[in-house]
Amino acid sequence: MSYFDRCLYILVDGARPDVIQYLVNQGLLPTIETFFLKEKKVESATTCFPSSTGPAYTPFLTGCYASTANVPGSRWIEKEHFPYDKKLSFKGSRSYVGYEASRIDKDLNPEISTLFEVFEDSYSWASPINRGVPTKRQIGGITDSLFIFAKISHYWEVIDAVGFSKIKKLIKGDWEFAFFVFPAVDELSHNTSPFSKRTLSQYIRLDKYLKHIISDLKKTGKLESTAIIITSDHGLTKTTKHFDLSGFIANIGERVFKYPISFSKKKTCAVLETGNGMAHLYLSDNMDGKWSPNRLADSEMINRAIIPSLLRRQEVDHVLTTNESGEILVRNNKGTGYIRKDGSTIHYEVEGEDPLRYDFSSEKFTDYESLTQTYDGPYPDVLVQYSQIFDSKRTGDIIVTAKLGYDLRKRMEFPLHKATHGNNLRGQILVPLLTNIPISEGKYRTIDVFPTIIDSVDGSRLKGLKYEGRSLVSRK
Ligand SMILES: [Zn+2]
Repeated sequence: MSYFDRCLYILVDGARPDVIQYLVNQGLLPTIETFFLKEKKVESATTCFPSSTGPAYTPFLTGCYASTANVPGSRWIEKEHFPYDKKLSFKGSRSYVGYEASRIDKDLNPEISTLFEVFEDSYSWASPINRGVPTKRQIGGITDSLFIFAKISHYWEVIDAVGFSKIKKLIKGDWEFAFFVFPAVDELSHNTSPFSKRTLSQYIRLDKYLKHIISDLKKTGKLESTAIIITSDHGLTKTTKHFDLSGFIANIGERVFKYPISFSKKKTCAVLETGNGMAHLYLSDNMDGKWSPNRLADSEMINRAIIPSLLRRQEVDHVLTTNESGEILVRNNKGTGYIRKDGSTIHYEVEGEDPLRYDFSSEKFTDYESLTQTYDGPYPDVLVQYSQIFDSKRTGDIIVTAKLGYDLRKRMEFPLHKATHGNNLRGQILVPLLTNIPISEGKYRTIDVFPTIIDSVDGSRLKGLKYEGRSLVSRK
């Protein structure tokens, strides 16, 4: 049974569910409150690690984690193709922050499908991922002059306003899927704070836009047949201190490759930040600068100073590596956690103090238990998220995450960020999940959004698709 004919997807980049809940409690988001909430409760979901624009769009647009989609960061290298001995070359490396942004469509795993490919008539506005949208239906992109104006002037509210006017124009038309990104909350949070007056005002403005959209849908008789979904790709937490990770790695003797540019020849370490609450580190086999295509195991990096030096830094939250048995090691300076996947079962054991700060009563979890048992703690869904990220060949030998209040990039960031995402921290990994699709009770991930949307419009289209989430549609 289908509930709807089409889906309007509103992505409020950087929106936090607790900020929406706070504003609802103040009576400042009346449209969201009356149209989407039961007893004023804002539902939430976990996005994926790294919680950053680009990688964190893959869960809801493809139903797959960032690693399965093969874009495990906003910046990455592929060791096999990385020309470590050339002075200037970006072959085998990528940064979606800048002119390479549009290459993400080609970088996506060809075995997975986007919602734009599942639905025949689709539109997108300001989306970093557009695979499957006909060019003339990509009605606004981040390289357009309007977006360049917003970037220079920091007047991001104008992009949301234009996005809203484009939705209004589309409402009467016949289409199956329209995906609209509202980037102002993310950008204003980075430039001011996730809780600044200007950022909060933008949530209130979006609620007013929604009021008009819903009333226009009513007038055209399309409200009952349109699934509406509002989520985000990540939250943001306040940042007060910046740790120059690439400078730090260079100071301990490594020849560093970094974005936007690197001059050193025979590089020994690539430092690629995402969000900037996490970074992938890729290492040569030894200090002679020889690189092998495969990920180095934890024991193969024992002669380098990188891991012990990072563990001594107060800015660093976790250092993640893998060992020969395929376990993921989660370290801080007080202890090590070992995550092991065994089919759909996840094992977690600790040596010393638990770096995740959970007091688990068991060492064995199903996939869903690992979500429910971590959801209310400091790192929601961390066991699954920290293990999925290592499924891509483009993931680093080491992953570093930044503690709350810090990020990992000090130079070449304009303007310097006052808020951060990328890590698995609660304020960064939780996103709102607001929808008129009847969904079952429980805990959710944004990978569930992809099958949920398809199921609510035409469930038969899920057949043959490769995806990792589950449909949340309630059939009661
Ligand atoms: Zn951002």
